[in-house]
Parts: sequence; structure tokens; C-alpha cells
Amino acid sequence: MRKAIAALPDTLISQIAAGEVVERPASVVKEVLENAIDAGAQAITVRLEEGGIQRISIQDDGMGIPSHELPLAILRHATSKIASLSDLESVASLGFRGEALASIASVSRFSITTRTREDDHAWQIQVNGGQTVGGVTPASGPTGTTIDVQDLYFNTPARRKFLKSASTELGHCLDVIRRIALSRPDISMAVWHNGKITERWAQGNIEQRVDAILGQEFHEAKIPLEQVSGALSIRGFISKPTASRARADQQYSYVNGRFVRDKVIQHAIRSAYQDVLHGDRQPMVVLSLEIDPQLVDVNVHPAKTELRFRESGAVHQFVFKAIQNALGVAAGHNAGTPSLASHSFAPVSSNHGLNTWMASMSNSSLPLKADSKNSMDQFFIRQNDPIASQPSHQTHSDLPLGHAIAQIHGIYILAQNQSGLVLVDMHAAHERVLYEKLKIDLAEGVKVQQLLVPVVMHASELEVAKSEEHRETLVQLGFDIATLAPTQLAIRTIPTLLQKSDPIGLVRNLLNELDSTGSKAVVDAAQHERLATQACHAAVRAHRLLTLTEMDALLRQMEQTERADQCNHGRPTWIQLSIQDLDKLFLRGR
Ligand code: ADP
Ligand code: MG
Repeated sequence: MRKAIAALPDTLISQIAAGEVVERPASVVKEVLENAIDAGAQAITVRLEEGGIQRISIQDDGMGIPSHELPLAILRHATSKIASLSDLESVASLGFRGEALASIASVSRFSITTRTREDDHAWQIQVNGGQTVGGVTPASGPTGTTIDVQDLYFNTPARRKFLKSASTELGHCLDVIRRIALSRPDISMAVWHNGKITERWAQGNIEQRVDAILGQEFHEAKIPLEQVSGALSIRGFISKPTASRARADQQYSYVNGRFVRDKVIQHAIRSAYQDVLHGDRQPMVVLSLEIDPQLVDVNVHPAKTELRFRESGAVHQFVFKAIQNALGVAAGHNAGTPSLASHSFAPVSSNHGLNTWMASMSNSSLPLKADSKNSMDQFFIRQNDPIASQPSHQTHSDLPLGHAIAQIHGIYILAQNQSGLVLVDMHAAHERVLYEKLKIDLAEGVKVQQLLVPVVMHASELEVAKSEEHRETLVQLGFDIATLAPTQLAIRTIPTLLQKSDPIGLVRNLLNELDSTGSKAVVDAAQHERLATQACHAAVRAHRLLTLTEMDALLRQMEQTERADQCNHGRPTWIQLSIQDLDKLFLRGR
């Protein structure tokens, strides 16, 4: 039997909307905190009971709501933040949809107590499952607003069943609170749970807030990052590759102050670390991107954690470069040696005399056999004769990585620099040096391989359209792709470096990514993977004995190489032990 079409009652509409906006207590916390921030709050107190399931009460000292507007605050699609389409397109507030309070009030026992600076006292409105109880009444309270939400989903038992335990819901609430607290260090915040204080953050700068929230691990690993370019700016902190995590649970990115999970940004982060982090390791980041609001659409998702950039390729490139720069600079700071910090790790210059040595190292015909016994002997002489153990060329001791003294078990190089002892993982360091050099060669231009027989691939209409739209970029990347039929493409050239890869899979991924994130990172990734393998094969093997001159040459080469202090898998390639460190080992001066 057909039922007649009928408009839904208002409360039911809000309850339906609540399904999207109020997924769980944490979503209430998010919406209410964002309102407090939009109201210019300087101090916010969050009180939760039973993980927010029983009660969420959030008090701010913002501008308050005039009493005659209180009924509108809980009306669906009523907002003070935008009034026109052009406002929407350049929106700077966190809220603008005017549906959060209406949705929350429709599925809870809800009240707003609020007082503006002009009011003599506060005003209150109470709502029970979407029904206003008793109108706007006088109340007591300071300037600002308190939103009180009790018994979430009391009138929608089907939804209530989806709630998890109080401790799980509390965890989600705290996640949301931390995210927001990281975006606004200028606002002091306190969080209470079941009557006990769990967090308190004073007003401060971003570094203090990051330290307070992300703790010691990030404090020790963090590298500051700041970059401005035209309509885009980014600042924040990222972790050194040597301090990665198994999960991406410490990645906070913000666009115009709003916490987002954006695949363009996430992808840029992953690609920027790709060379220095092992496969599935994850960096820690707190990154805040500012962009002209006109260039981003935040109205994509009811909870607004997703957005769309008008020029996603440019954003990707910008974030990627900013992180890479920060990682490159950090190479000089990692070991904490003053001489290294001031030393700029310039890219390998191809006319550097020592490159010849490196070139010979990467050939398998090394002039090492004749010397190996010799360097063994030297090593023993050094051990037994304290005077001879001073390197003869000690006058140049201001070199960042110092001078080689010996090789240990054919694996480690021992060197002395101004601050003490340097230990180098010979193979890892050489691999890094070669890899960076190969990358520079690659950046100078892709070598293209013409395929004798073009590879024909079946493609969807969409893929064919994408290949035509991105044709120019594809050619630059070394892929000459022609349309054979509405659902057939012919791959006519590929980058020489990728001869051994599966061209169809590569092109398919590339088309996908060019379209969704505007990035060509899949090709970079595939090429860099090949380069990394080449570098690994060419790098000097462990257990090969080197002369002091050869070891010194490697040290010099490392100083010239960007990111020489981590191998391609994010492990350190060298460490510094200062005289103080050594003294400590021997309990000297205690
Ligand atoms: P939106 O934030 O999208 O405008 P909401 O439903 O969250 O929609 O809030 C409705 C309106 O109530 C806001 O536009 C704002 O004017 C007012 N409001 C909500 N919370 C506060 C607050 N903490 N302080 C001052 N005004 C508030
Ligand atoms: Mg809001």
C-alpha cells in the first residue's frame, strides 16, 4: 500500500540531521567547543560525566547570546555566522550551518545559559528532546555561555545502542578536545571527568601547547617548520624520521584553524617522509595551513572534517616541499653538534673531486685489496701506540664529521671531531650518499624509454578522460599515452628507470592520484624505490676494509649530502659521542 507524501515534523528532521552531526558524545563536544571559539572565548571549561554519555557541560567566557535570540539558537538552519552565499564562500568561522545546537537539543535534555556583556544577569532556555520547556527565563551566571547536554539519545534508543563504554567515549572526547586545544594555544582550557580534573592547559604559545599535549617523545623529536608563499602559509612541528611511530595517531593537521582529515595533506606528509621513513612507519606532525578561504570549500561534510581545495596540486606541492625543507635543514641539527648545526648540507656537487672516489666505490672493481692488509696493520699499530693514534691531519679538526681513525669489524667507521667521537654505519651512510646523488641526477630530467611495442591497456571512460586531461603532465613524467578507443589506452613511453615495473598498474595509479590529489607521487615513489635499490646494491658492503683516506672521503661526502644522517629506512647513519658522553661512560669527574 502506498503512503501519501507528507512533510516531516521539525523535530524529526533535526533527529535525522543529528545522525550526521551528533555521532557520539565527542561530536557534541566538538560542536560546542567550536561555538565557544567562534564566540571569542579566552577560557573554556569542559565537564564530562560517564564519558559524556550522561552529561556534557561546556562553559565559555565568550560574547554570549542576547536573550531574544535564544530561541533562534536552537532553531535548525539559524546562524549568526553567515547570511549569504558570498559569506559562505569566504567563511572564516568554524561553524556556519546553524544545525548543531538544533540537532543536539533534539536528542538530549539540553539547556543554554548565557549572558552578554550588556546583560545584568544571565538567561536560560531548556529543551527536552527537541521540545522547548517554559521559554526563556532569567538565570544566574557570568558573561559567556554554558551549554549543558544530559542523557544523550535518551529519546532515540536505537542510536543509544551504538554508544560504547564510558571509557571509550571519554577517549573520543579527549581526542577531540586535544585536537582543538592544539589549534588554539591562546585559549586556556580545563577538562573534568566525573568531578576530577584530567587536563588543564594555560594560555601560551603553540610550542608550549604542543609540548603539553604531545609530551616528551615529540618534544625531543620535533623540528619546527614555517613556510609562506603567496596565498598559502604553513607552520608547525614535524618529527625527526628517527622518532617515527607504528600508527598515524599523532598527526594533527589544520586548515584555517579547523582540524581536518584531508587526503591531499596526508598524502603530502607521507610522500615527504617516504625517503627517510621505513614503509609503514608514521611521523608525528602538528601542521597548520592557512589559505585564502575562497580557495577551499569547507562545506563538503556535515562535521566539516573534510574539505576540498580548489587547487589541490598546488597545496600538495606546497606542503610536501615545506616538510622536505624542514627535514633537510634538520639533518644538520640532529646530532646536536655545534659544528654540524652551522654547516649547511649542500647537495652533492658533481665536480667535487671526491665524487670520483665515490664513483670508484660504486664500481665493483675497488682498489681495496692491496690496501686491506695495510689498513689492518695500521689499526693494530694505533691500538698499541697511544701517540700514533692521533691522526696526523688533526689540524682540520673543525670538519663536522672529523677524521677517520679506524674501522671496526668492517662495519663501523670511527672518527674524531672537535666535540669527541663519531661513529658511522659505513654501508648505510654510503647508501644514503649514493641515493641522494641518484635523485639529483633524476631531478635533472627523466630519461624516457620508447617501447618497441606500445602496451595496450583497458581503461574506463573516466581513466581515458583523465589521461587526456593530464596529458602534458604525463609526458613530463615520461609517459606518452595515446587513446586508441573509448576504453583503450596505449602506453608508448615510460621512464627508463621504471622499465622493470608493471606499466599498466603504474599508469592506473598515476591517473587516479593525478585526479584526486593532483600529485605525481606514485611515479616519484616508484622511481625512488628503484634508485634506493640501486644505491643499496652499489653501496660499499659491510666487511670491506677501507683505508683512512677512503673513510675520510666518505665522511666528506656525507657532509655534502642532504639528509645524510639517516639511511633510506630512517635509521641513523652516524652518531656523535661527545667527550662529556665518554666521560660519563667512565664515571669520570664524579
Ligand atoms: P553555527 O555554529 O553553525 O552557527 P550552531 O547551531 O552551532 O550553528 O549555533 C547556532 C548559533 O548559536 C550560532 O550561530 C551562534 O550565534 C549561537 N551560539 C552557539 N553557541 C554559542 C556560544 N558558545 N557563544 C555565543 N553564541 C553561541
Ligand atoms: Mg556551531
